[in-house]
Amino acid sequence: MKKTFFERAIFLSWYCSKGDCKFCFMSTQKKKIRNPRLARRTIESILTEAIITKECGWKIEFLSGGYESYTKEELLDIIKKVKSIYGKKLWLNIGVLNESELKLFKPYVEGICGTVEIINPELHDEICPSKPIAEIEKMFKICDKLRLKKSITIVIGLGEKITDFLLLKNFINECNITKITFYRLNPHKGTPFTKGPDSGYYADWIRRTRNSFPKLNIVAGSWTDRLDEIPLLLEAGADSITKFPALKLFSTKPAKMIEQLVKQSGRTFAGTMTQLPEINIKRYKLGKLEQKVKTRLDSYLSMMRKNQ
Ligand code: SF4
Repeated sequence: MKKTFFERAIFLSWYCSKGDCKFCFMSTQKKKIRNPRLARRTIESILTEAIITKECGWKIEFLSGGYESYTKEELLDIIKKVKSIYGKKLWLNIGVLNESELKLFKPYVEGICGTVEIINPELHDEICPSKPIAEIEKMFKICDKLRLKKSITIVIGLGEKITDFLLLKNFINECNITKITFYRLNPHKGTPFTKGPDSGYYADWIRRTRNSFPKLNIVAGSWTDRLDEIPLLLEAGADSITKFPALKLFSTKPAKMIEQLVKQSGRTFAGTMTQLPEINIKRYKLGKLEQKVKTRLDSYLSMMRKNQ
């Protein structure tokens, strides 16, 4: 039976140097954060999340954010430590990286994610003015040279039309993308968007992508109030699911519902969203960080235990 994973993005900071994508929560926060370095997560918090992700049998979708909150040496240190916990190379979604940065991170990295978000060029310029697709394409050319895999993120519901699928198909072909994450728009207060897409329309994008690219790794995000669409997204061709607040809602009704819906779809749910793992922190060889991580881990586990 085909396995369905939950993929969890691990955020490195709560700051984004662009901060002007019109649909994004960060666009409502940027003015509140004056010093990007103060928006960083602690290393023990990041590592704790990596440990829980591994122990629950989830995948790390990518390390995300943080590009202007850390120096590249600090990022390298985080990437190395998370990779050591995870036991596999990681995907990075930390902005457009140059060749020397890509070379620096490459030994620990499977691939690089470009946050395209919206493929229609006019809409892209309007909605994501500070992250031109051309810069992502340029980075992807360097990834080709360095033999790094490439993935993209696409948000559905930003005003695109299904006929724009042809643009997406061309982009995936031209850039040789091997993984794509679809998100349904979740309208945030303070942004111009008020309504997400219908499940059928959202699934149509996934279905067309799957039909055109049988081997592409497709990850689909859903929100807690739209979980009933999960069977539709899987049937349309999604391999994994993402975007569920799995720590905060561990073992809650929605978490149980995800496991059930995946089973009902004829798939096996890899890992667990309901059974608290027994964690032996010693196996992670954290050295001086062990006590801090243990304290943080205890607090995360106690939050997760509350719902059991
Ligand atoms: S979508 Fe990404 S780049 Fe755009 S504002 Fe949000 S976090 Fe920043």
